[in-house]
Order: sequence, then C-alpha cells, then structure tokens
Amino acid sequence: MTATWSVNTAQFLDNAKNVVSNNSIMAVVKNNAYHYDLEFSVKQFLKAGINTFSTTSLKEAIRVRKLTDDATIFLMNPTFEFDLLRKYRIQMTLPSLDFYYYNKKELAGVSVHLEFENLLHRSGLHNYSEILEVLEDHANNDQSHKMNIVGLWTHFGYADEFDVPEYETEKRDWLEIVDALLNQGYTFDYIHAQNSASYYREDGVFPHHTHARIGIALYGSRPYSQLSPALIKQSLTVSGKVIQVRDLKQGDYCGYSFTYEVKENTKLAVVDIGYGDGILKARAKGQEAIINGKRYPIRGLMMSHMFVEVDDTVHAEDDVILYNNDIRIDEFTFKGVGANSEQLSAMNHDSLIKEYV
Ligand SMILES: *Cc1c(COP(=O)(O)O)cnc(C)c1O
Repeated sequence: MTATWSVNTAQFLDNAKNVVSNNSIMAVVKNNAYHYDLEFSVKQFLKAGINTFSTTSLKEAIRVRKLTDDATIFLMNPTFEFDLLRKYRIQMTLPSLDFYYYNKKELAGVSVHLEFENLLHRSGLHNYSEILEVLEDHANNDQSHKMNIVGLWTHFGYADEFDVPEYETEKRDWLEIVDALLNQGYTFDYIHAQNSASYYREDGVFPHHTHARIGIALYGSRPYSQLSPALIKQSLTVSGKVIQVRDLKQGDYCGYSFTYEVKENTKLAVVDIGYGDGILKARAKGQEAIINGKRYPIRGLMMSHMFVEVDDTVHAEDDVILYNNDIRIDEFTFKGVGANSEQLSAMNHDSLIKEYV
C-alpha cells in the first residue's frame, strides 16, 4: 500500500506566517494540532513568531511546554491537576462560579482566564455579574497565596455562520462585557475571543484584545467560502496510486453489491486508498480525485480501495490525489461533506504513510 499523508513543511510555515501577518495569534493545537502533529506544528508556529498556544488537553499542554520554555500555554478545559498546572506553568480557564468556590484554595498559584459562557453554552461564567463576583471575591480574599487572574475570554458559537444573526449578538454581548470591565479599571494580560472565522470576518483582532485564538486557518483550510483561497493555503496532500486500470462494459456493476452501474463502456482505475484510510464516504460519493492534473469522478469506495472512472491517459502507478492545494479540504467542507476538522480527524494515521517533505 502506498496511500500517503504528506505535509509540505515550507508551505505549512509560509501559511502560518501569512495567517499571523502582523497580528498577535494564540495557536490552537488541540487534537494533536488538528492531526498535523503537535510537535511538528508547534515548532513551525514558533518559527512563524507565535509564542502563545492553547489546547483542550493537559497532556498536550505539557507536551507543548517541553518544546518551549517561555511560551504562554493556555488550557481551554478545566482540570483538577493543579500541581501539574503550577509545575509546567500552564494557565487555565475558569469555567464557572462553582468551580471557583470549590477550588479557591487549591487554585493558589494557578493563573486563570475568566471565561464568559455566551451563546455556545459549553463552559464559562454566565454573565457580567458572575464575572464581577469572581473579581470582587478574589480582590477581597486576603490569603497571601491565591490564584492569579490574568485573562478574560470567550468562544463564539456562530462565527462561521453568515445566514443567522447570532454571531452579531454574541459579539455585541461579549464586547459590552469587555468594555464594562475595562471601564471599571480591571486589566488583563490576555483578552481573546476570535476563532479563525471571526478573525477573518473582522479583518484582524478586536480592539483591546491581546490575541486571536486561531486553529483551522493555521492548518491551511478556510473557515468560510467567501474567503479567497489565496489567503489560506493547504500544505497537506493525501494520495494513493492506481493499482491497475480495468475495462468495463455497459451494464456491468463494479464494487460490492452493485455499487456503481457502468453507463457505457469505460475504464475504471482501482486505487489503493479507501475508507479504512479515513476517506469519508461523503468525500467519495459523487466527488472527484485528481490524476495527472485532471479531475476524474470517484465511482466506488471500499475499505482499502476505490474506483475512479478514467480515460486512456491513466495508467498503473499514477498518483491519485484526494486532497492537495488544488482539491482542498475546504472545497468539500463547502460542498457539505463535513467540517474541515472532521475530514482531517477522519484520516487514519496508522494506515497512511506519513511524511513531511
Ligand atoms: C477549536 C477552538 C478554536 C479554534 O477554532 P478554529 O475555527 O479552528 O479557528 C478556538 N477556541 C476554542 C475554544 C476552540 O475550541
């Protein structure tokens, strides 16, 4: 088997630099850096001038710390492993009022970012008055050793949506809270809210914010279709090879259980990549692959194989591109195959040959 998952390192770095431009970016490296590999990605992001990282897993946060001694590392999920947070200097979200009151003592020496819940309702303090309550209780806590409030943040649930008004609502509510706190004289070393979609649709980082918290754009996929593909470039190529080309006659069926009925005499390339390698059924069905620079329709998907309908210019050993910068993951996101991160996460890193060139 030769099915390959290959990243062009120079292109990955170049894209990261373009995403950063002159802005201050917190790189989201959750889920093994969207499966581009945590160690690889952090090293490239450091080269691109990024020195702030965030993830949802403490294990990953510690792996980031082992790569860089001076970066800021922010854990977006709460943990009760307060010793590890202190030991590895990992900052953490403050996810609720209850969490604060229950763990007030144990949090001593831990740096936290107050989280505003907003419309996603996944985590965070419910409203402005809960945020104020934490700030005031903390100010009145006369213990000499207590947590440090260093940041303020939220996460939007609708930044990738253009057809509904919710993004404007969650954005307005959030910006009002930030303004009110700053007007009260509170200051924070870190204020961050924007994911990739919000960063691009706002044309940069919000006023008074220290960072945008960017994932998918750094990995080369566009969060929404109105963005020019030239702004964000994909460094990943996923490909197989033609094993053989077979002649089929009109009325023949190919694949298990009549997968595809041949409409007229044609040629089908049998390719050595399938759903076992993480190619989603929706990515195959009615979609295309590139062989020798030309697009051909996929006719059937099996665990380790697929059929692609070809012409007589295609031969055994030819490369069959499922994804590269000309047939991008985001193209299929906008065709409804699945989110960018869903297509990336489906890829089977045990069966695919993995390489960085
Ligand atoms: C995943 C995630 C991000 C990054 O979102 P992208 O759309 O990939 O840029 C930012 N913030 C939080 C809390 C996340 O979970």
